[in-house]
Amino acid sequence: MPVYEFKCKCGHITEELVRMDTQVVECPKCHDKAKKILSACSFELKGGGWFADGYASSKK
Ligand SMILES: [Zn+2]
Repeated sequence: MPVYEFKCKCGHITEELVRMDTQVVECPKCHDKAKKILSACSFELKGGGWFADGYASSKK
């Protein structure tokens, strides 16, 4: 499962391991709702890199 960042109204940012369709989590600081920050492109790039690495190493 991917790690997403969630930002709360109080300014606290929390990282959570959640399902892709999870849009909000509870802020650990103020227990309000923290919304997902859509910066998941870096994760997708990482996923692609991992696949490429695995392919390269299995070729050796
Ligand atoms: Zn909060």
